[in-house]
Amino acid sequence: MIKHQGGCHCRQIRYSTEYDPMLVMQCNCISCRKISGSMTVSACFAEDEIKMTGKCKEYTYSGGSGMPFHRGFCENCGQYVYGKPTAFEGFIVMTLGSFDDPNQFEPKMEIHTINKLKWLKDDGCVKDSFEEGATVERMEAMMENLEQRG
Ligand SMILES: [Zn+2]
Ligand SMILES: [Zn+2]
Repeated sequence: MIKHQGGCHCRQIRYSTEYDPMLVMQCNCISCRKISGSMTVSACFAEDEIKMTGKCKEYTYSGGSGMPFHRGFCENCGQYVYGKPTAFEGFIVMTLGSFDDPNQFEPKMEIHTINKLKWLKDDGCVKDSFEEGATVERMEAMMENLEQRG
């Protein structure tokens, strides 16, 4: 059963999943801000949990970990749809704004707060804040959620 779905603005890219995200998080890093053109909240899944139709163009650069980071954009409308950090092999992060119903997700974690916009606040949904990338903590949070899924 499809639980969540989304896609790009022109609808050439569509995706769906039968799962809830392992982690919803806000990244305040400069790369995410530049690439999204705004603030970035994304929902993390295992790559094979997302069924996608349509072709994204991938932009790849060296991420904060020094490993390649792939970002997927719709070839037609240019929307930033997903990120695939090679540092987290097998995982994909879907941008919050690409979901048909983004209101169903709230970030529980924020990272790179050292670069956070100074006026940006949340309503208390964020439980864990990290000044930097928090790779280990992120992996732990995802594994914890994975276990709860059963
Ligand atoms: Zn599009
Ligand atoms: Zn980032």
